[in-house]
Amino acid sequence: MAETAGDTMGTSLFTEAVSQLEAAGYDSMGFAVEDARIVCVECDASVDPSASQVAAMLRYETDAGEGHVFAMGCTNCEARGLLFIGAEALAGGVGDIVGLLESRARDA
Ligand SMILES: [Zn+2]
Repeated sequence: MAETAGDTMGTSLFTEAVSQLEAAGYDSMGFAVEDARIVCVECDASVDPSASQVAAMLRYETDAGEGHVFAMGCTNCEARGLLFIGAEALAGGVGDIVGLLESRARDA
């Protein structure tokens, strides 16, 4: 098997894990973080991270650091989709939200 510089085994496993979540129904336009709230891209409704529905979490590594993907459900339109939070966003101050969603994913 060829090894590519800058790419890790983790990347392909991660891509596969994301595909599995999409296949499991988390295939909406997804979610975003805005002003410390989770926003559903489908219906534009926002919810406090502490009240959000988190079904699962993935972690991945890039050159920039650790990123997270959360499989979430919208409490307003019931869309299911993914929220990607990369290492850059983490550095930008969403660390609290990631920690909160992480604990909700564990409780799910
Ligand atoms: Zn929605």
